[in-house]
Amino acid sequence: MIDITSQECFLWHTTIKICDMPMFNPLTIRFWGVRGSIPCPGSHTVRYGGNTPCVEIQANGQRIIFDGGTGLRVLGEHLMSQQPVAAHLFFTHTHWDHIQGFPFFQPAFVPGNQFHIYAVPGKNGQGIERRLNDQMLHPNFPVPLQIMGGDLRFYDLEAGEQVHLGGGVVVSNEALNHPGGGVGYRVSWQGIHVAYITDTEHLPDQLHPGAFVLADRADVMIYDATYTDEEYHHPRQSKVGWGHSTWQEAVKLAQAAQVKQLILFHHDPSHDDDFLDRIGELARAQFPQTLLAREGLMISVYPNVM
Ligand SMILES: [Zn+2]
Ligand SMILES: [Zn+2]
Repeated sequence: MIDITSQECFLWHTTIKICDMPMFNPLTIRFWGVRGSIPCPGSHTVRYGGNTPCVEIQANGQRIIFDGGTGLRVLGEHLMSQQPVAAHLFFTHTHWDHIQGFPFFQPAFVPGNQFHIYAVPGKNGQGIERRLNDQMLHPNFPVPLQIMGGDLRFYDLEAGEQVHLGGGVVVSNEALNHPGGGVGYRVSWQGIHVAYITDTEHLPDQLHPGAFVLADRADVMIYDATYTDEEYHHPRQSKVGWGHSTWQEAVKLAQAAQVKQLILFHHDPSHDDDFLDRIGELARAQFPQTLLAREGLMISVYPNVM
């Protein structure tokens, strides 16, 4: 059962089934940053939001954070009222839009908080600690990563490795198709599967095998829909080879993988609220269970206990 609400605006609500069996708490997904490439605050992006990628998932007491774009700063402010905080941060890759919020993640500066930080090393072999450290060096940033007083633990993952977080929550990854490398993730718990597939370019003649493994019969698939097909194949400003996908390819993958709920994500900074509304309408005509990610969107997925 999937239940969708938004912080500010009510999207839709399915009635929660009351049953005699003890109900598990749901897995929850919350979007803090949904924009790709660069933050784009302004009057034309207020409804979907201008912060870059950050998605929080909570399941059975485990808090997972995907990517540290500028949305991570906002999540950090939220977490300051819940200290001490422990969380698992998984980075897909370290392009700016996925790490720029990290130096402004307030809870990481506070002793007593604990963060486990994971990524697959980049194609240059650098691990996640080195890459987060380097963005905070002079002359690019005033204070070094070492000033963070929280307990930060860094882990370099193998492509395809599974991480067991405890409480039956498992996070697996698959390599995707992005300049410099990158992975997508799949969270599994109590038969619920959530796929986080961003910063990946579809293949011209087949579904990307890694993306398919992540998406296979997922309850929720979050997917890189930076472009429309028309923009991607534009005769003079083609986006082929830029490492991103389209909403049409998102629909194609969702249908093939029998996904229950598709969330279009990593919106192009040039796509204003009205343009994104239209993409939503077009996508829902082909795959009715489609939503566009927006800041504040919350999704609850309940284990099937019947
Ligand atoms: Zn990105
Ligand atoms: Zn990227």
